[in-house]
Amino acid sequence: MDPRKLFVDERHAAFCVFCGNPPVTREHAASRVLLDDPLPDDLPLVGSCHRCNNSFSLDEEYIACLIDCVLAGSTEPDSISRPKVRAALQHSPSLAARIAACRSNEASGGIMWRPEEDRVRSVIIKLARGHVAHQYGEPQLDEPSRVTILPLVVMTDEQREAFEAVPECPGWPEIGSRAFVNLSVGGDRTYDPESGWNVLQMRRYRYLVAQPVEVEFRVVLSEYLAAEVVW
Ligand SMILES: [Zn+2]
Repeated sequence: MDPRKLFVDERHAAFCVFCGNPPVTREHAASRVLLDDPLPDDLPLVGSCHRCNNSFSLDEEYIACLIDCVLAGSTEPDSISRPKVRAALQHSPSLAARIAACRSNEASGGIMWRPEEDRVRSVIIKLARGHVAHQYGEPQLDEPSRVTILPLVVMTDEQREAFEAVPECPGWPEIGSRAFVNLSVGGDRTYDPESGWNVLQMRRYRYLVAQPVEVEFRVVLSEYLAAEVVW
């Protein structure tokens, strides 16, 4: 079974995975701005309408820049290591100013960042909807029952262990779905059987999709920002 051509991909073609309307284009499930060039081959693609295709890009750029600014401790483009993010900050001083505005110096001497939570949440749910639909061939159009977003470094050891562990799934996923292929024939090329995570780009983007009971999506961006979305 060729994991790049599964029947669930035919099914994707029937809906925009973000809103359920008829799709007119294809969208990368993983935002390209969150990945470095050259992009990995065979990036997951899902059906999208024009409105959804265009509506996330500013928020995606915001979260990509935010992560690198937090990691660098600065919004100065010269201090940023990722070329894409450096270029975005140079190109958009207003974006750099918006990120700078959420940085504050604490009395303790440390730096605190208070991101625009709605924007971060909107991108995380978008990633979740894309990857879940890609994996299972079914859209998750309802509001998630839980969205948790926090840096890996602030997790307790127990939280980290639970987050990294792949949930036990009582059943097997639908035959012909990507989730089934991962379990049965060694998976697609990004699937790491040791960790159970899909590593799209090393140290930049990894995710997992599982269905212990509810559908769960987890993602780690730049080995810094961790998020979990549950339906
Ligand atoms: Zn749409």
